[in-house]
Amino acid sequence: MLFKPITWVKKDPEKSNVFWPSDELKKRAWVNADSIYVEAAKDRVAFWAKLAREGIDWFKKWDEAYREEMPYYKWFVNGKLNISYNALDRHVKTWRRNKAAIIWVPEPLDEKERVLTYFDLSREVNKFANVLKTLGVKKGDRVGIYLPMIPEVQIAMLACARIGAIHSVVFSAFSGKSLQERMLDAEAKVLVTVDGYHRRGKQITLKTEADKGIEGTPIQKVVVVKRMGMDVNMVEGRDYWWHDLMKNADSSCEPEVMDSEDILYLLYTSGTTGKPKGVEHHTGGYAVQAYWTAKWDFDLHDEDVFWCTADIGWVTGHTYGCYGPLLCGATMLEYEGAPNHPQLDRWWSIVEKYGVSVFYTAPTAIRMFMQWGEKWPRKHNLNSLRILGTVGEPINEEAWLWYFNNIGGGRCPVIDTWWQTETGGTLINSLPGIGPFIPTVAGRSFPGTNHDVLDESGSPMNIGEGGYLVQKSPFAPGMLRNVWKNPARYKEYFSVYSEKYYTSDGARRWDELGNIRLTGRVDDVMKVAGHRLSTAELENAITSHEAVVECAVVAAPHEIKGEVPVAFVTLRSDVEPSDQLIKDLIKHVDATIGPTARPDKIVFTNELPKTRSGKIMRRILKSLVRNEPIGDTTTLMNPESVQLLKDEVGYKE
Ligand code: ATP
Ligand code: MG
Repeated sequence: MLFKPITWVKKDPEKSNVFWPSDELKKRAWVNADSIYVEAAKDRVAFWAKLAREGIDWFKKWDEAYREEMPYYKWFVNGKLNISYNALDRHVKTWRRNKAAIIWVPEPLDEKERVLTYFDLSREVNKFANVLKTLGVKKGDRVGIYLPMIPEVQIAMLACARIGAIHSVVFSAFSGKSLQERMLDAEAKVLVTVDGYHRRGKQITLKTEADKGIEGTPIQKVVVVKRMGMDVNMVEGRDYWWHDLMKNADSSCEPEVMDSEDILYLLYTSGTTGKPKGVEHHTGGYAVQAYWTAKWDFDLHDEDVFWCTADIGWVTGHTYGCYGPLLCGATMLEYEGAPNHPQLDRWWSIVEKYGVSVFYTAPTAIRMFMQWGEKWPRKHNLNSLRILGTVGEPINEEAWLWYFNNIGGGRCPVIDTWWQTETGGTLINSLPGIGPFIPTVAGRSFPGTNHDVLDESGSPMNIGEGGYLVQKSPFAPGMLRNVWKNPARYKEYFSVYSEKYYTSDGARRWDELGNIRLTGRVDDVMKVAGHRLSTAELENAITSHEAVVECAVVAAPHEIKGEVPVAFVTLRSDVEPSDQLIKDLIKHVDATIGPTARPDKIVFTNELPKTRSGKIMRRILKSLVRNEPIGDTTTLMNPESVQLLKDEVGYKE
């Protein structure tokens, strides 16, 4: 063993499954006392202004920290900065010059990792920034990025930021058609893509999809990274190889002086509830929130190796797989491939090999590993882990504890971060040095942010009660500033309750400390015989049964009760579905929540329909049980699952 593992958490002696930071964790943490919340709440604008001064280098200081003209707001008005300068140049001037910025792990085991130091990354970014310029890209132009998890993706993003171009990354597992829709909406001028990449042992050709995606869009130039050396179609005068353009590119490019409110990027939401929205993030506020949330949520220190498993195509990949850690000067791990290639322990072998200390993933992945069993993580020494994170969906208690025990060895806090594409950075979660860490309870509002849980009429809920989660002014600096070309859609976020940002998520106030439990999307809440039932809470009850790995509950119409829950359940691989099991599950719900929550029907399925980001699409399940049209399914990862479920529920086309 390389070193003795440290216990970073301790159990609350009074309450089961409530954990607090150990003295070691407190001692090490950047923030370790409740006073930070108190200090921040005194004057939130002043608090963020202080963070902005300390965390970011500005070319010119702002005139006014915050200005609000609802539904619009600005941060660091007239402040000037460049985010690539903050992520690169300022580190290159220090000892961090030779520190690993990115450790890239390819999927094939016989291929070597690539390590880019801050200096390497800076040189590549400067060169690619000059390449973009020679392709005619100017400040404010949109550049599409359709790349898998290879370092060129961060290089391309930072190069755009360096010259003030707006990047719009599209998840590489999206089809050409989805790319095309987004590129048309963004009116991108240039696309950066790749010949292909490795995924689960297969060679995926991406260029053919990219070609479909370009059709009919304003894209004039395409830069193609040669990852595989495949034979791909290159259109003369339009398509260029990355390495050809980089060969003679100048390795220094002055960073563009950007206004704090200049657009940094556009990113389309996951599309769980409907058509994706092009969310607009602006430079200054985003940089400040990305820096401080990365630093405090994950307690990032120079010696850490931070692995955020989210694909760069999602906001989590943007903020914690690129900007946040790089702004902090941290070392990030980036992995190209699938978690189950060549075996079900690939992720854990990577954690062991590179000594990953901070690990951030999604409940969907955790539940997948639960299904595969403990033996896979057990093959590896995971003692380097210090902090675990989760994001994307409510995490059920079983999955939280499984993660805590089997990955964190019962030593590491689980930081359950609630946030959205729209919020740019995390907003509700426990901080490692402060705690508490409670399964299914995300935590408190990040210092300097302000949330409330309201009823329909806008009155705040009491502790223990559930309602609608909103954010109050001053809005967090990293929040969206608009929806691209769709201000009407933007205004909707602020039109449900006056002067408040409506999250579309349900929440329950947990305790006097200000902890909040997320209870699922508002659209998914059921009303059974007059009682409000949240999906997350009912799903949590069902997944606490030992036979169940994953579950989604939706409301079906009912003549007498109004609505009744229907549960779609995925079982552990060693459990067979049976009538007895259905009875047991119903009894289990009766005992955990009560008979009102009792599912009217339980449908067993090997796979729930999910978005490509791994979120359960309850909207589709709802349409299935209501026999309504299924709607847009382009963001669906596994369309076959829907077909199988149609037969199960007797859906008529
Ligand atoms: P769309 O808005 O297009 O339907 P989406 O909401 O899935 O897509 P994202 O911005 O990727 O797009 O996801 C944010 C949502 O994910 C949140 O609003 C919330 O419903 C859910 N979520 C994220 N993190 C958590 C968490 N820690 N706990 C509970 N829910 C979470
Ligand atoms: Mg959303």
